[in-house]
Amino acid sequence: MAHCAVCSLQEGHPGITLDENGTCNLCNLEVADELLENFTYTNRVFEEFTAAGPNRDGEFDCLFMYSGGKDSTYMLDKFVNEYGKRVLAYTFDIPFESEHAADNIKLAKEKIPAHFVLDSDEAGITTMMRDVFNRPAPQKPGEYLDEKLPCVSCRTFFVIRAILCAIRNKIPYIALCADPQQILTMESNVREIVRGFYETFGRELTGRLFGEELEDVLFATDEELPKVVFPFIAMRYDYDPDAMVRELKAKGLYQSSPLETHCTLYPLLNYYSFKNWGCMFYKLNASSYLRAVKKNKNYDRSTYSIKFPRAANLPDLEQRLQDIIFDIARGDADPRVHEPALVEIFRELHGDENAAHFVARSFLDMRATATRMGIKLA
Ligand SMILES: [Zn+2]
Repeated sequence: MAHCAVCSLQEGHPGITLDENGTCNLCNLEVADELLENFTYTNRVFEEFTAAGPNRDGEFDCLFMYSGGKDSTYMLDKFVNEYGKRVLAYTFDIPFESEHAADNIKLAKEKIPAHFVLDSDEAGITTMMRDVFNRPAPQKPGEYLDEKLPCVSCRTFFVIRAILCAIRNKIPYIALCADPQQILTMESNVREIVRGFYETFGRELTGRLFGEELEDVLFATDEELPKVVFPFIAMRYDYDPDAMVRELKAKGLYQSSPLETHCTLYPLLNYYSFKNWGCMFYKLNASSYLRAVKKNKNYDRSTYSIKFPRAANLPDLEQRLQDIIFDIARGDADPRVHEPALVEIFRELHGDENAAHFVARSFLDMRATATRMGIKLA
């Protein structure tokens, strides 16, 4: 199969086409116009938000999606203590995530004068994930990010819960702290987010998950709906995670852990991407890293929780990971062989010894995780 000469994305990857020189549309920057439009809109909304006075219809100026990770802790502090906004800090308890963020949320509660709420719906989000994983193979060629559908759906699920919470409390803005790469791929219009969910999951399941309240969003006027603000847009050219962590630690707002954003479904997310699209879950991130390295030999900034050493041979590493995941899915796992092989792969990806062992073991548990979730492995 043909791979992009620059970033190694393969032909047939959702949303990717190769030109006659073997360079992909992402490397050729053919998506630039679309991105620019998205940037212009989100920039405008952010300026409108920072200039806006207090919300006269309710007690909060914005609902802030607060995960407890470094990005959102950094911004929550800025919103409350620098911009002087009255903030409802909204956290959705994602049942699939390890609990490293909980300590940071506790620190933030002590030091940032916002109103904190913790929302959850384990039954609902599990039902939705089961639906995604147990679907028949998707139609080819597919669209950009289709290989990450379970992950994207999980995020959309709790963004919709936050949208409903904002509407109930008459809050005009929702702040979402995705990193600059994620923002490029995120819908910024509330009605479009909801419409997209209906399209993916259908009316019956969507109604079961969110009730009739959500249908009203489809028919509301723009003025009645909250706007999504992406605060990292303003700093997209100097997004520097290491500097943010230093500042947060100096303020006593952060305890770091190398596995802080670890999702317990990571092995299943990889299984989904390999089974349906022949690639690993973090393929776009890895390719984006390769692209940056080829442009700038000194590039070493890590924008992701996973690092990609420049020497890693991506297609080879992917093949090894796929073979092992399929063995595990079939029930042919041999920990004595597979565990060291997985550790080797994640050492190359993460560059961290503890993380590599931790992630390797979570892959060996993949079948148990699937059974617990009601997910069938073909
Ligand atoms: Zn490419």
